[in-house]
Amino acid sequence: MEYNESDCCGNGCVNCILNVKPKATVKLNETGKANVLSNYRYYRLLSKKEHIWDVSDILELHFKSKESENDCTLTLTPGDHVMMRVEFISKQQADETTEHKYHLRPYSPYWWNSLKLEFKILVKLTPQGYMSQYIERLQERDEVEFRGFSGLYEHRADCEGKTYQMIISQGVAIAPTLAIIEEILNNEDDMTRIVHVACFQRVRHIYFRNKLKDLNQYWNYKCFIYLSQQLCESNECKQMGHCVDGCLNFRKQLTYKESIYPYRLTVQSLKQIESKTMENKNYNRIAVIAGGSEFQKFYKKILINEDLGFVKNNVYLL
Ligand SMILES: Cc1cc2nc3c(=O)[nH]c(=O)nc-3n(C[C@H](O)[C@H](O)[C@H](O)COP(=O)(O)OP(=O)(O)OC[C@H]3O[C@@H](n4cnc5c(N)ncnc54)[C@H](O)[C@@H]3O)c2cc1C
Repeated sequence: MEYNESDCCGNGCVNCILNVKPKATVKLNETGKANVLSNYRYYRLLSKKEHIWDVSDILELHFKSKESENDCTLTLTPGDHVMMRVEFISKQQADETTEHKYHLRPYSPYWWNSLKLEFKILVKLTPQGYMSQYIERLQERDEVEFRGFSGLYEHRADCEGKTYQMIISQGVAIAPTLAIIEEILNNEDDMTRIVHVACFQRVRHIYFRNKLKDLNQYWNYKCFIYLSQQLCESNECKQMGHCVDGCLNFRKQLTYKESIYPYRLTVQSLKQIESKTMENKNYNRIAVIAGGSEFQKFYKKILINEDLGFVKNNVYLL
């Protein structure tokens, strides 16, 4: 995919679309059809719904390309993003001329169907945010422009079981990591061990909770959930600033076999996870971090500097 200046959203993303070269090993489209995501095209909104009942600011949006399924495919690799583009007209006060400009924001598909040219994104509406307000107004059948873009991460299947892949995600940024996890788990020959550390605010805000429970049934996947703002009314918890591990108000919201902790993810937590899940110290360690840029940089530094065995070149920021 080729990019130019007008593809940059200007938000200072850790992997700016302009700095990421197309992956060398992107699989060629065997059908010979064009990739609909290779430049901006219109997609129709098929559905828009709340991801969690009664949480109105987290929406699932399902889009379908307007192009013909006979001529195109929709090609993405897990961990890739799409750029949403909305045109607006800017009026120059000096000479009253008008100029066509665009608002651009990246989003990360967690599901797609290449043949049907469809994809889904999970969006957290930001108060007063430009695109959030635009998305709030969107109605089914409305048309929106998107194009695709890749990050630096690319998975290589491991048939020998030597790879330990830690995935750390923050809130809605769990979306692109799900596509990565499913690609690995759906490949029976891939013996990569995945340790998924998912951070959310509260139990109520654990996105894809049922899916995470299902994934936990795989021998090579284990999920640990950390909640940064879980706090009940009890005095003991209020004093701590978060629910304590044994808090019954917190415990009664958990189900069997869920590893959920009512506090922030710390260096200590990561060391405990490592000792629980790393049976063999000689694993090749890869880490993928998805979230806001401060979150990504913070945990990258910890993984590299805190004796957890990760090296800079094997830590990917989505
Ligand atoms: C690679 C990548 C993938 C992403 N994937 C997803 C995803 O899958 N799902 C998702 O929900 N998000 C995702 N994001 C974030 C997304 O791109 C947007 O940044 C997000 O939706 C907010 O955009 P917005 O236009 O609504 O807010 P913006 O208009 O960009 O505003 C952001 C914040 O700034 C504040 N603000 C805006 N204008 C002003 C002002 N004049 N003064 C003071 N404060 C102001 C707003 O109140 C808001 O809190 C991703 C980001 C990246 C970099």
